[in-house]
Amino acid sequence: MKIDLHNHTTRCNHATGTIDQYIERAIDLGIEVYGFSEHAPMDFDEGYRVSFEDMGDYEADVLAARERYRDRLDIRLGYEVDWFPGHMDDRVLNADVDFLIGSVHFLEKWGFDNPEFIGEWEARDIDTVWRDYFAAVEAMAESGLFDIVGHLDLIKLFKHLPATDIRTLAHPALEAIARSDMVLEINTAGLRKPVAELYPSRTLLEEAFALGIPITFGSDAHTLEQVGAGYDQAIALAQSVGYTQAVTFRKRNKQMVKF
Ligand SMILES: [Zn+2]
Ligand SMILES: [Zn+2]
Repeated sequence: MKIDLHNHTTRCNHATGTIDQYIERAIDLGIEVYGFSEHAPMDFDEGYRVSFEDMGDYEADVLAARERYRDRLDIRLGYEVDWFPGHMDDRVLNADVDFLIGSVHFLEKWGFDNPEFIGEWEARDIDTVWRDYFAAVEAMAESGLFDIVGHLDLIKLFKHLPATDIRTLAHPALEAIARSDMVLEINTAGLRKPVAELYPSRTLLEEAFALGIPITFGSDAHTLEQVGAGYDQAIALAQSVGYTQAVTFRKRNKQMVKF
């Protein structure tokens, strides 16, 4: 079964294409479980996310599509939520959705994955940034607020790679993810970034497998062409590491399926 739970809509102001176009594309690609996970509202960086005022409309649009396409595609509703202590909101955390993806896009107020702020890397020690990043992922897992870990090693996107072994840097975070029963997404967006790799890397996915952490799949699509892009590579990586099952969510409950 093909699963893709990470897709955006125009409500985040940095994606193109309609919900219906994404759905039709997913159907053409043979995807069977398809999730929308818009950047959730937050009182920071408001321009890159749906607003609190529009949450209801976003959810209603996806649920209406779910009805419209019920015979052709199993559509799920979610949010991608920023792990950002002090800025997370109960309206999002308690939303009536199928799943919440927790993602670290900010270290303090630095949006490290935004090309606009890439200069900040020059002022920082790369290994310290990686340590801080995985400490944030660990805290996110320990919070128990989310179902899925978004793009586990996003910090690699511009190819600022640490001197320290990445397994050492990520290990406490992976242990926290295992303890929290969270699911790791294999996210294909990394393939279109300078690092040109899936998130997570094979090395980290092997570590996750050894810890018994389950997986799901997401294309992190912000354009129509990105829906399902790189899916075959994601499947091949998961299978080669030893995974045979993946997870989908309905109303925050896990469902295991063969992929
Ligand atoms: Zn985005
Ligand atoms: Zn993200």
